[in-house]
Amino acid sequence: MNFKRTIEFIRDIYQTKDFIPLHEPRFTGNEKKYVEQCIDSTFVSSVGEFVGQFEDAVADFTGAAFGIATVNGTAALHTALHLVSAGPGDEIITQALTFVATCNAISYTGARPVFVDVERESMSLCPKKLKDFLATHAEVTQKGCINKNTRSQIKAVVIMHTFGMPGKVKEILDICNQYKLKLIEDAAESLGSYNGAEHTGTEGYLGVLSFNGNKVITTGGGGMILTQSEEIARKAKHLTTTAKVPHKWEYNHDSLGFNYRLPNLNAAMGLAQMENLPLFLEKKRQLAHTYRDFFSGEAATFMEEPKGSRANYWLNTLLMEDRRQRDQFLELTNQQGIMTRPAWTLMSELPMYRDMQHGELGVSRWLEDRIVNIPSSVIL
Ligand SMILES: *Cc1c(COP(=O)(O)O)cnc(C)c1O
Repeated sequence: MNFKRTIEFIRDIYQTKDFIPLHEPRFTGNEKKYVEQCIDSTFVSSVGEFVGQFEDAVADFTGAAFGIATVNGTAALHTALHLVSAGPGDEIITQALTFVATCNAISYTGARPVFVDVERESMSLCPKKLKDFLATHAEVTQKGCINKNTRSQIKAVVIMHTFGMPGKVKEILDICNQYKLKLIEDAAESLGSYNGAEHTGTEGYLGVLSFNGNKVITTGGGGMILTQSEEIARKAKHLTTTAKVPHKWEYNHDSLGFNYRLPNLNAAMGLAQMENLPLFLEKKRQLAHTYRDFFSGEAATFMEEPKGSRANYWLNTLLMEDRRQRDQFLELTNQQGIMTRPAWTLMSELPMYRDMQHGELGVSRWLEDRIVNIPSSVIL
């Protein structure tokens, strides 16, 4: 791969000699207007009408029946795990190739993560490896799905749609149903990504989005739980708003809740961002196609959306020949003011998760050695 030509190409795309970030937000719509309205109203905090409007806008866009806004994506994941009653002594299966928040949220409940491999095509949880893992290690009993090695109950599976590439939700749902497991979709990176007509995060028991500053749209900090069930939505809202029992003046709380509600100020920004989401997605797709065409003549492989799916191309991903080439490319681009990043260190390598059970992780390791994400901000 010709590094020099690649660097020139990226500079040419972004039309700048300055530093090029990996992913920066765009505020070209009603952000200032809505935030100012919000400030003028004095309702900047836990009460106000932007929260509901933002939730409705995201629910409408994704096709989820309900959206429950939270302070960030990690809080949304933590809440989602509570809603599948994950707790001390339980196990939750997820992928080793993910952002640390996925595993941290599992650990916050007292449950332990168990790692299964991802597939090459979507970089997301592999249905075949999940099936093999469960066939070897799990049995379905009256109590639910039991890990034969630890005798712990496996409560749920968390799939993460890596860098916005839709994972194989349907196949994984079938396996989950067979083993009496709930499916949570960590769709933090995949707002605007679909399997067929289904938006990621809407097919599992619950889905989770993030609106952190580096995601497709941002609220500064924020997240959302997606669900098709009114009952789950009600529980999620209750749990994220200190489990307060509605009353005209009394302060009554019927269970241990969280203060995870998204402030109205952040929702105001989010509503404006949602208005521009279709435009952002269109521009991201154009950028991905520009990269795809350029890299078709290079040795590095450009990751394309799996057949039958539509990716948001949140981050554009290259697969280098090996770890040595990956590191050389990272070194040179970052030194030259072009921000590129590798994949996360596998969760199974981190000190707090090193001792957790895992299946065979060959594809995760192979990808970890080769992934480089290149600048992917929307160009308007
Ligand atoms: C961004 C992200 C989250 C959570 O994000 P917050 O920063 O807490 O909003 C969770 N999982 C994945 C995979 C992410 O990329």
